[in-house]
Amino acid sequence: MKMNDKPSGSRLPGFYNLSFDKRWELLRKANLISQDDIGRITGADSLTVDQADHMIENVIGTFPLPLGIALNFVVNGRELLVPMVVEEPSVIAGASFMAKLARASGGFKAETSEPEMIGQIQVLDIPDLNLAQEKLLAEKQNLISIAAGIDPVLEKIGGGPRDIEVRKIESSPIGSFLVVHLIYDVRDAMGANAVNTAVEKISPYIETISGGRAHLRILSNLADRRIAKAYCTIRLEDLAFSDYKAEQVRDGIIESWAFAASDPYRAATHNKGIMNGVDAVVIATGNDWRAVEAGAHAFAARGGIYTSLSTWGKDDSGNLIGSLEMPLAVGIVGGATRVHPGARASIKLMGITSARELAEVIVSVGLAQNLAALRALATEGIQRGHMGLHARQVAISAGAEGSFIERLAEKMVLEGTIRIDRAQELLEEWGYLPSEE
Ligand code: NAD
Repeated sequence: MKMNDKPSGSRLPGFYNLSFDKRWELLRKANLISQDDIGRITGADSLTVDQADHMIENVIGTFPLPLGIALNFVVNGRELLVPMVVEEPSVIAGASFMAKLARASGGFKAETSEPEMIGQIQVLDIPDLNLAQEKLLAEKQNLISIAAGIDPVLEKIGGGPRDIEVRKIESSPIGSFLVVHLIYDVRDAMGANAVNTAVEKISPYIETISGGRAHLRILSNLADRRIAKAYCTIRLEDLAFSDYKAEQVRDGIIESWAFAASDPYRAATHNKGIMNGVDAVVIATGNDWRAVEAGAHAFAARGGIYTSLSTWGKDDSGNLIGSLEMPLAVGIVGGATRVHPGARASIKLMGITSARELAEVIVSVGLAQNLAALRALATEGIQRGHMGLHARQVAISAGAEGSFIERLAEKMVLEGTIRIDRAQELLEEWGYLPSEE
């Protein structure tokens, strides 16, 4: 492998060609990771069964997944290595390559709204919805004051209740009812526990004021008050590759995006590509990826028709410009973020000090991932880039071990047939005997 450039910031040229041990040697030498965090990331000192036993029920083990780092990222002028936990090949390579294209124009710019979550209280058995709504709104300040006393820790650090909204659901399978929203600033937490506690505690007051019966009291995962946005510019000249002209690639990307913007069938896959990057960082940092997924897809359908979370176009100079906007309920305290040693190390590796900063990185990775998929789809198709790594997975599934994995993968790529039956056939032809289990 060649390491022409000196590693600096998030640029580690040739990193992907290094062996596992050499990668660690480089990270250590460049002081990119602390001695204590090495074991937390490699697995030796990561989540123990004992720790896991305190996290969920009926624990009988832990379940490792690959953790890699995406390179080349610059977010709001800061270089950082991004840990990603993902089982799918090409995700980290795609994000790293697009981050490299984006850094030529300064990398990703990202911003977030205040970390406000929504807690919902369903209020049933109300004879006069309008009157109850009026009464609840008249008591808004009182309700906010009551909610403010619920979490002294959050209150002390500037979080807590911000607003009360009252919505009427006029027609449902059980008739009409009210929904009270408690808008709650959760600072550096994802916030589900904090919000659920708050809505449960204010419910008796809601019942007294409205005269109704508080039924469900739970956070909404449509966190549309907690939005992250990322923007990037890719210089036109950086888009050309192989036989593809820059304009052709740029326009192809915009055409592909237009498909997702106007067709839910395509938008689902388009957004899945975004979530490849988003989820990988969400998982690496111990955050709740189901919550982020639920929020993203509900937000994508907010206009009544499911659509793309991103937008692509060109600027006056002909450069490609992209943006991504989505809810991102992620934290750096609470949940598994502090309990899982690997998650703690991942947050430290990025030098992240607030939940908003984490969301800004995640939304940037989502945008990079989206671009990687669109660029491939708009040109040579997605399978070409996938083939090498996919072939290795097929080789392993067919029973190959050690050097046979690479040999078998190369042969299948060369033949253009990457299928398990062909892999098994080749192993048989070569007289390969897998080691005994
Ligand atoms: P948490 O309750 O463990 O931690 C949040 C608490 O930490 C706050 O209430 C506050 O008291 C304290 N805190 C200390 N320093 C803080 C800081 N700087 N910023 C904010 N809070 C600080 O965790 P959580 O984030 O409220 O809940 C997250 C967990 O809830 C996740 O594990 C998630 O999976 C789970 N969950 C999710 C859902 C859902 O998404 N629908 C529902 C229930 C539970």
